[in-house]
Amino acid sequence: MIKRFSQVARYDRLHTFVSYLESLRQAGEDPAGSDISQDDNAVRVLTVHAAKGLEFETVFLAGLEQERFPARNMPERIELPDDLVRDILPSGDYHLQEERRLFYVGMTRAKTELILTSARNLGGRKSWKPSQFVLEALDRPLADEKTLKTSPLDSLKAFQNHPQPLETNEPERETVLSATAVEDYLRCPLRYKFSRVVKIPVLMHHTAVFGTAVHESLKAYNAARRDEKTFSMKQLLGIFENSWKSEGFISREHEDRRYQEGLDMLRAHFKREQKSKSRPSFVEQGFKMNAAGARIIGRWDRIDLGKESSVIDYKTSDVKDEKAAQAKAKDSRQLGLYAMAFEKKFGKLPDKLTLHFVKFGIEGTVRPTPRWMEGMLEDAEKAVRGVSQGNYDPNPSYGCRTCPYEKICPALRKG
Ligand code: SF4
Repeated sequence: MIKRFSQVARYDRLHTFVSYLESLRQAGEDPAGSDISQDDNAVRVLTVHAAKGLEFETVFLAGLEQERFPARNMPERIELPDDLVRDILPSGDYHLQEERRLFYVGMTRAKTELILTSARNLGGRKSWKPSQFVLEALDRPLADEKTLKTSPLDSLKAFQNHPQPLETNEPERETVLSATAVEDYLRCPLRYKFSRVVKIPVLMHHTAVFGTAVHESLKAYNAARRDEKTFSMKQLLGIFENSWKSEGFISREHEDRRYQEGLDMLRAHFKREQKSKSRPSFVEQGFKMNAAGARIIGRWDRIDLGKESSVIDYKTSDVKDEKAAQAKAKDSRQLGLYAMAFEKKFGKLPDKLTLHFVKFGIEGTVRPTPRWMEGMLEDAEKAVRGVSQGNYDPNPSYGCRTCPYEKICPALRKG
């Protein structure tokens, strides 16, 4: 269906495809099921109503929470006078009986295996109970759990209450951290915990979509330059377009503006790079090393081994002047770790480490000295120690305004 759409669509973009699906749905079509025959080896996502008359080897019935299935009985918006009701309605809770019949239809679609699923946590404050139909089907007593209101902090505590591991004679597990994880920990240990230990999911942010699309484009362009292959601006912009996702934007206008900004940024970058004599020697090269008491992993965006060796890391953040770029490079623990890994691979430190801010083509560069490297190592050791000891104290700062956990952060609730 997507292929057919892309052949005829004027604007072959995700949001136009979604509108197309919506139009089909409003016209009474079932776009999800229309292209698939019952015999196809594929997963079909159907409502119970749409599955009537069909059978499958394995059926998952999802969303079986009480008050969702059976759904709460909503009063009719317009009540029909009794004289107009042709059928004699059965006595008792008619809605519940109808829902039970529907559940039976769902269960009997399975030929071999039936899997019933429900969730306690659907992302809100309420704790959900399994559907009474599931308990009836399994011949279990009705759930006696009270409906609980849980605060976000209580939910987090639930994640913490894992049983303590039994003591064993196994050697202690090695701490493995990425260079960005070290930077994240030092910025705010609690934020690090929320995102990397508890792994609280957050919605995709538009800056991540933008950054990924730009990085993918630069990766392909730099690889072509490294291999001395021709690569046009059109190809560069094409990769940006293909890597783009319509997620996390505030509005359609916001997305269009950012998309245009990305294209302009890459056009300007391409023109600058065409004039540059320096070629990349390594692109998106991964590394692993033992440093600061841990296994550190990472990836260099670009290494140039010309007259001077340099490690370049691309950034898409809004840095407008060289002074700010210099300060960021000087404080970047990520660059410090990149320099350590470079030294392990090439036997000497790189001549320079650069943060390249693509938007305005501004660079912040640091030439690593023994003293600077010492400071970087101390910071990395601090992060490794903190993670190994489970020390996740909050570090409120200006960065809290863009922290996705700001609403549940206890440090911002005090006072
Ligand atoms: S809101 Fe601030 S202090 Fe709290 S986790 Fe986020 S960055 Fe850390």
